[in-house]
Formats: sequence, structure tokens, C-alpha cells
Amino acid sequence: MSFVVTPPAVAAVPTSDGRRFPVHRIYCVGRNYAEHAQEMGHSGREPPFFFLKPADAVLPVADGGTGEMAYPSLTADLHHEIELVVAIGRGGRDIAAADAAAYIWGYAVGLDMTRRDRQSEMKTQGRPWEIGKAFEQSAPIGPVHPIGRTGRLTTGAITLAVNGTLRQKGDLADLIWSVDETIEQLSRAWLLQPGDLIFTGTPAGVGAVQRGDRMEGAIDGLGTLRVTVR
Ligand code: MN
Repeated sequence: MSFVVTPPAVAAVPTSDGRRFPVHRIYCVGRNYAEHAQEMGHSGREPPFFFLKPADAVLPVADGGTGEMAYPSLTADLHHEIELVVAIGRGGRDIAAADAAAYIWGYAVGLDMTRRDRQSEMKTQGRPWEIGKAFEQSAPIGPVHPIGRTGRLTTGAITLAVNGTLRQKGDLADLIWSVDETIEQLSRAWLLQPGDLIFTGTPAGVGAVQRGDRMEGAIDGLGTLRVTVR
């Protein structure tokens, strides 16, 4: 039976071994580094909470390339959030943290770009965050590196510079909820599937970018993600 409109293309991210990782869903963890939680007005180890972006929010950037992100509509406060991204290679539900590594295909450097002004309004009004978080190109992402090459990433620097000036700096060891714990919690609420991406949260130092700004995000072992705002 024919489709009534052309089916959308499969969203995909390049892999460091020259293939493509197809994107099913994009899960994001909120406030997962203590200093960032504090700068957003929160403290303490609250239970993890999640939001989603559509799969086609990815802005894939090839190794050594520079992504071009269009400055989005409806904001005057576009924020960068550098994040470790986990790519799921095997599906499951109710996954124990101790077993979580077996479900990871690999890792990437990603940016959870945010219309902070719109998100703040929605928070104040108790409304959903999508307008602040789930827009086109809101998830720039570098190549996915297979876990077989990187090993499990539990420590290592995560940084973001804008126009050569360091803005965000943290360490993966400082995640409030580890990658394994995040997979455990997520898989209680949703059926994790191959192709899912998990943005694991951002360290302190989030801030605004303007048209023409050049962002360089890096995580030890995963290289550098370069994105220019147009
Ligand atoms: Mn984030």
C-alpha cells in the first residue's frame, strides 16, 4: 500500500568508523551536574528527569567538519549546553545499571541547544518545555565512536569554548546520575531501542551565543565538535 506523502528520511549521525547511526529517539537528562543545577536555581540530588527532542533535531557534523546551525526563531537567548551523548545499540526495558554497558553502542559529543527565554517562560507557567528544547537543529552532534574503541567513558574532561574562550568545563565523573544509572531509570519509563540517543546533561557555564559565534565542544576520547551559528 502506498504512502500518502513521501516518508521522511531516517535521521542519522556519522560514526567514526565510516558508517551511519540511525536515530530513533533523543532522550535528554535535566540538571545532571551539581554546579549546573545550582546555576539553574536548584540543589541536591533530585531524582533524574527527562525530556525528548525529535530524532530529526540532530545536526550531524562529520569528523573534522564544522556544522552550521541557523539561529532559531522566537528567541533572543540561545544557549549552549555541551553534553556526552550515549548511543544505544540494543533495546530493552527494566535494564539494571550493572548491565547497562551492554546496551551502549557508542558515544558522541553533542550540544543541547536551548531557547532559554522560552524554556524559562514555560517553567514559570508550568507548561511543557518543547518550544525551548525540541526545535530543528537543536541537537548538533559529532560522530558516534564505538564503545569497542573508546572503552566505557566514566571520567574525562568535557569542555565548551565559544570563539576560543572557555565557557563550560566539567568532568564526566561529576555526573549526578551516571550513564549506567540513567539507562536504568530511562528503561523503566520507556522501551529503549537501538538508535536511541541519550543526552546526559551539561556541566556549569551555560550561556548565550550570537550569530557568527563559533562553538568548540570536546570530550576526552571523543574529539571536538565544531558548530558555527548563522
Ligand atoms: Mn541539557
